[in-house]
Amino acid sequence: MEPLYTAQELAEVEAYHQPRYVASCLDFALTPLVLILLVRFATKPLWRFSERTGVRLERGPIFAKLWNGPGWAAALLFALLFFGLYSAIDLPVEIWFGYFHEHEHGLSRASPAVFLADMVKSKILFALAIGALVFGLFGLARRTVHWWWLLGVAASVLMLVSTAIDPYRSRIYVDQTPLPPGTLRDRITSLMAEAKVDFADVKVEHTASRTVRLQAYFAGTGPTRTIVLNDSLIAGLTEDEVLATVAHEAGHVHEPRWPARLGTAIVLIAFLFTIEGMFRASRRRGWFGITERADVRTLPLIVLVFTLGLMMGNPISGAISREREYAADRYAIALTKNAEAFRSMLRKAARTNKMDPTPPRWAVWRGMSHPPISERLAAIP
Ligand SMILES: [Zn+2]
Repeated sequence: MEPLYTAQELAEVEAYHQPRYVASCLDFALTPLVLILLVRFATKPLWRFSERTGVRLERGPIFAKLWNGPGWAAALLFALLFFGLYSAIDLPVEIWFGYFHEHEHGLSRASPAVFLADMVKSKILFALAIGALVFGLFGLARRTVHWWWLLGVAASVLMLVSTAIDPYRSRIYVDQTPLPPGTLRDRITSLMAEAKVDFADVKVEHTASRTVRLQAYFAGTGPTRTIVLNDSLIAGLTEDEVLATVAHEAGHVHEPRWPARLGTAIVLIAFLFTIEGMFRASRRRGWFGITERADVRTLPLIVLVFTLGLMMGNPISGAISREREYAADRYAIALTKNAEAFRSMLRKAARTNKMDPTPPRWAVWRGMSHPPISERLAAIP
């Protein structure tokens, strides 16, 4: 087997990844520090400004009803300002890695306008999510001390439903069109019948104007499940190789879902219970000048605790995810009975996406969702 990269290509792959590892290392150390500083020094001034400005913005009875009293505008403003400040700190790094670094290494084709539009869209969606969080979590917590398990159960049920609307989410960013009739569609259809995987449609995602990367995923579940292949993947792979990626994704469909769902629900409810603890402690001890339960000034502290929890949980979820990738690879090879196509598909995907064959061990342990490509290739029989 010839090596994945020539020496020259490998140097380029390393030049692409090295700064990303450095950033990831710094991110690991600096994110908690930045959040601690924000909690300590930004909470009070942000609140003073929000309180003053919020009073003038408060109109309409609907929001006051949702919020259970006055003060919703100040709370919302505070939350938006806090997250705005937090992401502004990161913005130059985000733009450099998302745009300049990707272009320098030939991975991105996005024009500045497209990049900017995508970023604005994602920030707007994020702000909407913050609004929903503030009204949902704080609004409910202001009404009842039972909010943490009520919200925990409701959110867990909602998560089951939300996978059904997955197919619509990615269309916010990129156009999708049905895969035209032909041998590829026919072969995918019979392969999925063999795999006993229902699906609604096969779509082509038009990403070629943005990225050179090959991408494939399944979105939705049961009757809404959509098989999504990007245009570069269809152009760059043979039919057998495309089938190998679809078979791999089908392997994920058959994974047992309930342990993860139950685990997520338990972790979520435990976290919400911890927040209730912070609500009570902040009132008792008068943190940030708080005199009532469920004051939005606890939000930066909640984000800090959440982030630390996520950092500790990522190595575990990453390890589970990597095991599942191996299982999906084995499934795909067994389903297609074509290890050769699977191998050449992985090699093409690795080369096009400039995957690092040997990422540093700490980067893997920190929570990489996929095993290093060299190890995936080595595991193919
Ligand atoms: Zn996978």
